[in-house]
Amino acid sequence: MRASTCRVGIDLGATSTKVLIADIRAGEKPAIAEAVVDRFTFPTPRGSDPIDRLAGHLAGVAEHPISAGGVTIPGIVDEDSGRVVRSVNLPWLDGVALGSALQQRLGFPVRLVHDGRAAAEAEALLGAGRGFADSFVLALGTGIAGAHVEGRRARRGANAAAGEVGHISQDPGGRPCGCGQHGCLETFIGGTYLANRWSAHIDRPATARDLFEAGRAGDPAALEMVDEATTALARSVLGVIATLDPSAIIIGGGISAARDLVVTPTAHKVYRSVTFHARPPILGAELGRWAGAWGAVLAAES
Ligand SMILES: [Zn+2]
Repeated sequence: MRASTCRVGIDLGATSTKVLIADIRAGEKPAIAEAVVDRFTFPTPRGSDPIDRLAGHLAGVAEHPISAGGVTIPGIVDEDSGRVVRSVNLPWLDGVALGSALQQRLGFPVRLVHDGRAAAEAEALLGAGRGFADSFVLALGTGIAGAHVEGRRARRGANAAAGEVGHISQDPGGRPCGCGQHGCLETFIGGTYLANRWSAHIDRPATARDLFEAGRAGDPAALEMVDEATTALARSVLGVIATLDPSAIIIGGGISAARDLVVTPTAHKVYRSVTFHARPPILGAELGRWAGAWGAVLAAES
């Protein structure tokens, strides 16, 4: 192990926190399995003195010769100042200069980064996007985000608001979306929308995973709902290809875990529909639920 190149990535989630210590040189794209030094999870602290309790959970990282860290949170962050602007799921962090608070307690610089963007950069550089000059990474979860990673960074946009592909309307007369528009991509394939629609159909509480399981078992209504979802996703992917001409499209996030029902049919629909456009590879993500922690590791090195 090259001691001085250890970095720690902290993915602070709404309920659980993932910590990844990796041996990674600046500018390197290591094979991730070889780069892992240690990793662990713990419940995200709540209640009184959460920052001190968070630092307590992280005390074990001092066993490793770490030179820098990165931390991601779900919410709006000011990456330049290292301050959390607003986190709906972790409200105790609102206004906290999390980067410097952790730096004080851990003794090395800690950089705060946006969770979705960090995960996309990791997937592009270390996961399915390895070997491509650039890639567009879609994260399908409760919400839907996209990020175009070119070089080592995802494009942030003039207002740090790039990538809201989930809220491009596909059907102005369609279902109302939480954003105020109608027929957004999210109303077709967002996790909450799929769960709600399947719950209404079977008349009991259900999750998106239940819907995919029913589809796999051959339920025609489930298959129709999934088919509608991937048709909408394929339409969005075609828009991305037309706009950005990326070298690869990577589809990740919890919804994409049903790869046979989501990624493969979406790719087929895109390739059937393209006329003059390019046909970039459409791939499932590889880093899974550790993508955010890898993104934090990558942020730490820069
Ligand atoms: Zn919307």
